[in-house]
Amino acid sequence: MRRSICCAKSRTRWSRVVPERFVNLGEYYRFCAVLNLQPLRDPMPPARLKQIPEWMSSELIITEHARVRLKRWLAAGSPDADPAHVVYGGDHDVRVEVVHVLSRVPPPVLVHILTTTLVIGVGETDGGWWDVAPAPLPQPTSEPLCIIALAWPTYIQDRTDAIEELRGIAAHEMAHGWLCKPRRPSVPTEYAAEKLEHETYIELASKVGSIEEVIAPGVTNEQQAAQLATVWGFRGAGTDHTHQMRAARRRVLDRIKE
Ligand SMILES: [Zn+2]
Repeated sequence: MRRSICCAKSRTRWSRVVPERFVNLGEYYRFCAVLNLQPLRDPMPPARLKQIPEWMSSELIITEHARVRLKRWLAAGSPDADPAHVVYGGDHDVRVEVVHVLSRVPPPVLVHILTTTLVIGVGETDGGWWDVAPAPLPQPTSEPLCIIALAWPTYIQDRTDAIEELRGIAAHEMAHGWLCKPRRPSVPTEYAAEKLEHETYIELASKVGSIEEVIAPGVTNEQQAAQLATVWGFRGAGTDHTHQMRAARRRVLDRIKE
């Protein structure tokens, strides 16, 4: 029996992400496998296009963690959600853009972010803020509680351009949330010791000439997040994979003491 995946279409007007790539039969079979769909016996491109959800792309399932999350979403009955239900703390201007971005990401990513992540925003005019934390916080059962922090890009003067930049960065961070391995939550009392241990490890790797091995996973993460944000139709620094890869390298190299 053939299964189809449906989601409320009123929220997002999806245009197919990369239509020309659907002529690739290997990709078609891979999508079917991940989505638990029965491949068509004679899969001509138009039939394939009809069977696979419009938001599907190779970039969406490039990591094992993303594939596990997609399967979890399918097992839950392919739910949809309201982007306005994001658990958010901070300035209103940033929240408006967060909700906008959530309305443009694929439904499994939307549901994943809403159920696992607290989003925090610092707006255009504030250096910081105090408030009561939103409640209830997401209580994910299969992953740790995650955080996305966003700052208004004050380095861009034009407001329209700044909004585009902020949207691209928000999409990039959501892509990380979807693609990356969930790490063990940091225990505050152990934080300083963990930090020191990590810095010692980086220094040691630098001395023995294996710093590239330390940098590589972070660089790959940045590339994949930037590419997924690009596929979703965003722009700016969040989608510039060379910029993000350079930043990932710098974050590690800056920790090496002189
Ligand atoms: Zn990143």
